[in-house]
Parts: sequence; C-alpha cells; structure tokens
Amino acid sequence: MGDFNNGAVKAAIIGGEYVMTDSVVEVINPSTGGVLATTADCGPAEIQLAVDAARSTQKKWRRVAQVERIRLVREVGRLILRDLEDLASAESLQTGKPIAQGRRDIEITARYFDFYASVAESFYGSSFSLTDSIEVTTRFEPHGVTAHIIPWNYPMQILGRSLAPALVTGNCAVVKPAEEAPLTALMLAALVREAGLPDGAVNVVTGMGETAGAALSASPGIDHMSFTGSVEVGRLIGRAAAESLIPVTLELGGKSPNIVFPDADLDKAIPVIANSILQNGGQTCSAGSRLLVHASVHDEVVNRLAAHFAAVRVGPALSDPDLGPLISQMQRQRVLGFIDLGRDEAKVLSGGRSLSGGTFQEGFFVEPTLIDDVPQGSRLYQEEVFGPVLAVTRFESTEEAVELANATDYGLVAGVWTANISTAHQMVRDVVSGQVFVNTYGASGGVELPFGGFKKSGFGREKGVEGIRGFVQVKTAIVAS
Ligand code: NAP
Ligand code: MG
Repeated sequence: MGDFNNGAVKAAIIGGEYVMTDSVVEVINPSTGGVLATTADCGPAEIQLAVDAARSTQKKWRRVAQVERIRLVREVGRLILRDLEDLASAESLQTGKPIAQGRRDIEITARYFDFYASVAESFYGSSFSLTDSIEVTTRFEPHGVTAHIIPWNYPMQILGRSLAPALVTGNCAVVKPAEEAPLTALMLAALVREAGLPDGAVNVVTGMGETAGAALSASPGIDHMSFTGSVEVGRLIGRAAAESLIPVTLELGGKSPNIVFPDADLDKAIPVIANSILQNGGQTCSAGSRLLVHASVHDEVVNRLAAHFAAVRVGPALSDPDLGPLISQMQRQRVLGFIDLGRDEAKVLSGGRSLSGGTFQEGFFVEPTLIDDVPQGSRLYQEEVFGPVLAVTRFESTEEAVELANATDYGLVAGVWTANISTAHQMVRDVVSGQVFVNTYGASGGVELPFGGFKKSGFGREKGVEGIRGFVQVKTAIVAS
C-alpha cells in the first residue's frame, strides 16, 4: 500500500491477468495535490477483453452450487476485514476522506459481502399448483455479465453494494471505477481471487468515463448495469441501456433536506444535521445539504450550527480530521462558485474560504460553510453542491415544510426532526423521497435499508434484502402432468 506515494503503476485486472496500457491516468492525492499512482487508461479493446472474460467465466460460475457461491462471497468479506487497514488508507489517500471514515467504509463494504451471502441463503423461487395437473415453479436466474460504473466519493461501499448481490446470484462483473479513485477496486478484485472465486468473475477496467465508461455501457456483451453518479452521466447510461435493451439501476444525486420543527430535540438534532453535510466533505449523494427550519427556532438552530462548524478540525485525510479536502481542484472551484452565489443571493453566516499552505499544502480544502435565507429559486437551493455547504431556509407551517422539501428535482433522502408523532407520519407520507428518517439521519451505514431515488435521484433500489432482486430475472416453469 505504501508504494502509492511513490507513484506506483497499477494495471487493470482482466480475466485474472494484470493488463497495462501505453497511456496512463494519474491518481491525485487530494490532501496534498501530489500524484499517488498511475493506472491503466482502458479503451474499447480492454473493455472487450473484460466483457469476454466475464462472459466465459459466468457460464461456469452460474452452475456453481448456490451454497458454494455463498461461502466464497462470505470469504471475500472476511478478507476485506483482514486487510482493513491497508484498504482504509488507500481509500482515504485517494479520496481525501478522514481515515476514521475510510475504516468505516471498509467495514461497511465487508458487511455487504456478509449480508448478501446471508440474504442468498433464503432467496428462492416459489412453487404452486395452478390446477390439479399443472405445477408452477419460479427460479431466480442471473442476468449474466453485470457492469458496475462507480463514482469517486464512496468507491468501496458503492462497489460492494452491487458487486456482492451480483456475484452471489451467479453473475460475473466488469467494474469501471472513477478515474479519481480506482485503487481500492483493484485491491478488492485481488481479494476476490484470493477468496477462491474464478479468474474473470470480477474484472476491473480503470480509465476515463468518456472512453472506458462509454465503451462499457455501450458493449453488446453486458446484460445489466448498475450506475452510481451524476444525473448528467446517468442520462447517457440510461440511453445506452435503452439501446441494448438491458435493465439498469441509476443511483443519482440528491438535494436532501433536514426539516426541523419547533418541538425537535435540538441537542440530538444539531450534531446529526452538521454531520450529514460535513461527512465526506459534503460529497455524499445523500448529504443533508438543505436545512428547512421552523421560523420560531431558526435563530437558535443557526447559531448552534455556526458554533459547531467553527469547531470543525480541517486537515489531510490521514491526520483524521473532522473534515478532509474535496476530491479535486475542479470540485473546489465549483464549490467556491456556489458560495459566491450565496454571497449574492443569501447570507453567508460562517466559513466560505478555501484553505491552503502549511498543513493544507496544495490540497483542495474548503471551510465548512453555513448559508442562511437561501431562496427556493436559487441554484444553491436546487442543485447539488457536493461540498461542505449547508443552505438554510425557514418555514412557518407543516404544509410549507412539505412544499419546500419537495421543491427540487431530486428525491433521495429526507430527515424530519419532531417529537409529534402525527407530524412525523404526515412527513413520511408527503415528502417525495426514497428514504425518510425521523429523529435520525443516515443510520449506521444502512446496509440493511433499501436505498434509491424518487424523481431525478434515479430508479431501481440497491441495499437491503430488496437489493438482491435487481440482479436476477425470474423464470417460470409450468409443468403439466
Ligand atoms: P459522474 O461524473 O457521473 O461519474 C460516475 C462514473 O461514471 C465515473 O466512473 C465516471 O468516470 C463515469 N462516467 C463519466 N462519463 C461517462 C460516460 N460518458 N459514460 C460512461 N461512464 C461515464 O459522478 P461523480 O462525479 O464520480 O460522482 C458524483 C455524483 O455521484 C454526484 O452527483 C452524486 O450525487 C452521485 N452519487 C450518487 C449516489 C447514490 O447512491 N444515489 C452515491 C454516490 C454518488 P470518470 O470519473 O472516470 O470519468
Ligand atoms: Mg468523474
């Protein structure tokens, strides 16, 4: 692992072989701005090899007894935990996330393999008698070759949540990690082999989205796609899936609100609301990036949040700060642009500056930023910032809270803070969102919780017991005597 700092060269993994390309992609350490490693810059030729390797392996893998597939997938989880420290440092170095978060991400990834191994233990079709002489049975069959296109913000967790159910149900995978954060996907593929899954069960093609990603999504050899990323690229992936007529799961962005009613327990709410936007530097699809707060508690809530933000320790990933850097210089410029918009259209209450020099070196740091009185029409209210920037808006009534909560194109997650059970039920019913938390937010990794978007946050569900269904198709056998 330590070799990353020497700019190690990391090849793609195709059919169990390491494959290098003439051109390479640099992986930057966002905590320092230095080069961490270089990876293969895969194109159509490598994609073709990877899809072919997955295809030929899948023909055998689908015939392996389910109990054996379960055993091997569970073993992957065990090996991930064995290598927790190495994986966590690599994850933190390439993404800039605090090392404690890196460790947590790896534990959650391991849990996906263990969890889906357990789910598969009782995941069977059904049988019934249609008439006295006709028996019907349903079987769950794998799609074949599954493509997994992964973003840079939670590289391991997001790969684990689709790879584990894909493998355990008899699919073989081609993975395109994000160009910014491909290192742990390569490490995971090596662990999959060590666990005893066949070569070609998991192939990792590193490189750029426009080339490697586009070639993978357009490949006639894939049978299913799991995409997690932006709405913009999600639309391209949806089009490619339509062209090939294959199922696709789109896990896209969010502009998720925490909604604070006057009777909320603020001691409990404030740290959770702050963490929901500061975790991973706000670069979380389900970040609590909007705060809707009742006018009667508005001043107290923003004052307490401003104090919380002021105490946040910012620093490089491995120093285990509260807040690490953003992923790239480009992302930092984008975030600062939104903060400028906040200065024009609303009130920046705290933070707002980028940080450099000293321990920040050439890293991509931005202070935690609280922006008050953000109007509904502002891009700051409507668009994903993907930075530690919380947009606050006040409301007067429950009806207005619902209206404001639903007033964006997204619908991924919402948090409701109230002691009133009727208000809680009403919000769960009326907020248009894939998950609604009441008096909590984010719940411990959420492996068990079905997750996915309403509206432009996407479609299909991953995670939880539900998540396994997307990786199989149902075959119905009708047998007459
Ligand atoms: P992104 O730009 O959409 O990229 C996601 C992946 O798609 C990357 O691997 C990227 O490759 C690849 N890609 C880019 N262009 C492509 C193309 N033309 N064809 C095929 N693949 C292509 O997203 P990101 O910036 O990495 O991640 C941030 C976004 O992900 C945010 O919008 C966030 O909300 C969303 N997200 C959603 C969830 C969820 O579960 N709902 C979870 C996490 C993140 P390269 O980067 O290598 O070019
Ligand atoms: Mg990208």
